[in-house]
Amino acid sequence: MRVVKTIKHLRQILSQARLKGQRIGFVPTMGYLHEGHLSLMRRAKKECDVCVVSIYVNPKQFGPQEDFKNYPRAVKRDTTMAKKENVDILFIPSDNVIYSNRYLTYIDVEKISGGLCGQYRPGHFKGVATVVAKLLNMVCPDIMYLGQKDAQQVVVLKTMVADLNFSVTIRVLPTVREKNGLAVSSRNVYLSQEQRAQAPVLYRALKRALVRVRAGECRASYITGMISRMIKQYSDGKIQYVECVDAYTLEPLKMLKGKVLIALSVTFGKTRLIDNVTVSVKKPRKIQD
Ligand code: AMP
Repeated sequence: MRVVKTIKHLRQILSQARLKGQRIGFVPTMGYLHEGHLSLMRRAKKECDVCVVSIYVNPKQFGPQEDFKNYPRAVKRDTTMAKKENVDILFIPSDNVIYSNRYLTYIDVEKISGGLCGQYRPGHFKGVATVVAKLLNMVCPDIMYLGQKDAQQVVVLKTMVADLNFSVTIRVLPTVREKNGLAVSSRNVYLSQEQRAQAPVLYRALKRALVRVRAGECRASYITGMISRMIKQYSDGKIQYVECVDAYTLEPLKMLKGKVLIALSVTFGKTRLIDNVTVSVKKPRKIQD
């Protein structure tokens, strides 16, 4: 595995790979690697000749009150983990490699960046889209691997890639969970023992909602209501949002129809957790309460 710190070095290695006709797979991360990240790397290894993983905690996607300074970092540990997965190139740029001190250019994927998490993290997706656009221009991968855990991020980046004609395929992989259902996240290390014990209720509530939807319930307010009630009953988590939206446009739905994303964000103390499920609703049916 080659650990690369500069864009020049990265391009040198990758242009050689491209000359040989090799397929390049890319997994962008903020590090503090876990099973979710590893699932993306494993798929990239399977489908591509060269697997590039980036580790960069992007300051531009954190708000002033957010956890940029305290975001967990463990480069040594991450390097060992990436090596074990046979990652070919681990790209670990520093801030001055990514942003010059005269940096002025941003990408704003309008509308869909503003709902769901965007309501609580203004500017977040602008930071994400900007850094991913830059990384795509550095790596020029054939395939970029993303996790469904960050569902809004997926829609934002798919839109950016389509709108700006990036020549990359986006592969989205399912959310990796702990045995108790809690979505694996770098931020889970912030949770106290008690919060960790309560947090699996998020996925339990989402699963229960899925059962209701599959049984024919189509009223978004009923579904979000039952999820919220269950989270309040079984945890001290503070709900930021529970929403049913169109999975492609992220537009809020009153009645569930087509491919639906049921997404939520809940804070446990200072730790903000997100989770989601998707479901296809073919024919809305009326059911009795
Ligand atoms: P992050 O380091 O949190 O920016 O995440 C890097 C990539 O890993 C993103 O595409 C995430 O969606 C993905 N990811 C994070 N957690 C999970 C998970 N539990 N399962 C699958 N993918 C994940």
